[in-house]
Amino acid sequence: MRKSCIKVPKKNGEQIRRVLLEIDLLDNSSRIRSEGEVLYLPLTREPQQCELMDLPGEFELTEHEFAEQKGQLKLEDLLENVPHFEVIGDIALIENDVPEPEKVAEAIMRVKNNVKTVLATLGPVEGEFRTRRFRTIAGEDKTSTIHREYGCRYYIDLERAYFTPRLATERSRILAQVKDGQIVADMFAGVGPYSIMIARKSPNIRVIAIDKNPDAVDFLRRNIELNSVLNVEAIEGDANVEAGRFSGIADHVIMNLPHNAREFLDAAIRLCAPGSVIHYYDITQEDDLFQSSLKLIREAASRAGRTTDIIDTRVVRSYAPHQSNVCIEVKVI
Ligand code: SAM
Repeated sequence: MRKSCIKVPKKNGEQIRRVLLEIDLLDNSSRIRSEGEVLYLPLTREPQQCELMDLPGEFELTEHEFAEQKGQLKLEDLLENVPHFEVIGDIALIENDVPEPEKVAEAIMRVKNNVKTVLATLGPVEGEFRTRRFRTIAGEDKTSTIHREYGCRYYIDLERAYFTPRLATERSRILAQVKDGQIVADMFAGVGPYSIMIARKSPNIRVIAIDKNPDAVDFLRRNIELNSVLNVEAIEGDANVEAGRFSGIADHVIMNLPHNAREFLDAAIRLCAPGSVIHYYDITQEDDLFQSSLKLIREAASRAGRTTDIIDTRVVRSYAPHQSNVCIEVKVI
């Protein structure tokens, strides 16, 4: 069968195979091909640009014929219904209402070689720090791991700080807009997935990364070291207060606190240099996806004697029935 694959010199093959496995891109149902000095590693799907950035060394994205890997287990072979689950580093997360969680966890551990722990959520993301509780269903009893995204690595303890891989594409959209030499204020930085990825784009970009959760800022500092970036300032504190120290200097202000970002709009406007962009996230109803949020942004700008131009409005992902996580981008003049 013809499939997308990574063509890689044999000497570099094992390194890339391991990363593909870790980010769930290696298709274990097909047999790896070896031809002369190169290997062809079959992929489960088309990789995103950001995922290719995770691969070390020389390689090429191409297509090739593959034979089926006989006897290779799939989740569908073990489970009648395969529930949605997410993999962060070497931890798989399933929802607390998944039927027969032990059976599902055992199947995931058997099929996904990179997964060392399966956790079930014990409730929703909640509280000021947007954290959640888990129980271990299978494997090592732990909630911390190292996750790869866009060629960056993040140390995370999932019970002590917020992180979701579902925003990976969204983060890449923001990354594309930041230019060399600009200043970015990440008002709710968490463990740093926006801040660090942007900082890695160029050492001439300055990132001011604020979070109120002391644990998240600890992990952020650790991740700054892990990724060897020198241009991120990690600040523990309330974004409404800390923003006051950086008045009028930011070219981009990232407001990723969807339920409460509206309470920080005055501080965000204060951060903005003329012509800067606010990336504002919100959770909105399907009959009012953008209008009420846009009104709040305009009102905050007007209180500061500033005006705004809409650059983009988009749905990032569905959040709940009839509710969406949206992003609104405005230029602040
Ligand atoms: N941007 C990060 C990400 O994408 O993983 C984290 C986003 S998370 C939805 C929101 C973050 O805002 C949490 O880490 C939380 O601790 C932080 N937070 C909540 N209230 C805050 C405040 N008043 N000032 C600064 N950070 C705050």
